Amino acid sequence: MPELPEVETVCRGLARALEGRRLSRVQQRRPDLRLPFPPRFAERLTGRQIVAIRRRAKYMLWDLDDGTVLLGHLGMSGRMQVGVGPLPELGPHDHVVFETGDGPHVIYNDHRRFGLMTLDHRDTVAGHALLAGIGPEPLGNEFNADVLSAALAGRRTPIKAALLDQKVVAGLGNIYVSEALFRAGISPEREAATVAGKRAERLVPAIRDVLNEAIAAGGSTLRDYVQADGELGYFQHAFKVYDREGDACPTCAKGIVTRIVQSNRSTYFCPRCQK
Ligand SMILES: [Zn+2]
Repeated sequence: MPELPEVETVCRGLARALEGRRLSRVQQRRPDLRLPFPPRFAERLTGRQIVAIRRRAKYMLWDLDDGTVLLGHLGMSGRMQVGVGPLPELGPHDHVVFETGDGPHVIYNDHRRFGLMTLDHRDTVAGHALLAGIGPEPLGNEFNADVLSAALAGRRTPIKAALLDQKVVAGLGNIYVSEALFRAGISPEREAATVAGKRAERLVPAIRDVLNEAIAAGGSTLRDYVQADGELGYFQHAFKVYDREGDACPTCAKGIVTRIVQSNRSTYFCPRCQK
């Protein structure tokens, strides 16, 4: 499943390929993904210029010149294939095709179809049911230790579960929560309400650092994507604790990375240096 850094990388890659371009042809090749496509989906996009492509939580927002916003999510297995020249032969999992005349084309492929694409308007999209209630962007200026502490106040759940709640902070997934708690030296089992003061002041930059490093790693895979067919959406990134059960802790060297299950999801941490 793509996490926030991958979605950010996809958005940046799509922006480089599509911003300023006009959609000359859009093919919608099935009636639905996780949700039905809206009425006249392809027709409403055709002929429109793409002004900007941006991310909110793990959603992509394409701003079009008439105020329409294409709101999309990659689901579990969605991929954006950017290419130049003639369209390749399309497969059964190629669900949407965006063409820009002489410019690049983008094929949305999603074999599990948990992704979605819908349309809204720039004046109302922030209140769309999929986006309303989502907390602050972890990389945005509105996210800081005070905001985080306030969101965690009174929460008796483990901090791991609280950070996965999209109302607390937007777009954090299982992998990056494990990594950020490791860097901040905070046990994933600690009661969320107790992550305040110095702990919150350590956790916010830890969250930003793990995300920014992954985005930088993903960005390096974007180079030259227009020259050759480039698939956006997934990249390998080295994690310090995630999926490293049994390894020596890279911080204290004496602890052993341990896996526990919280809310049916694996958590990896060092019991020696995360308190
Ligand atoms: Zn350790």
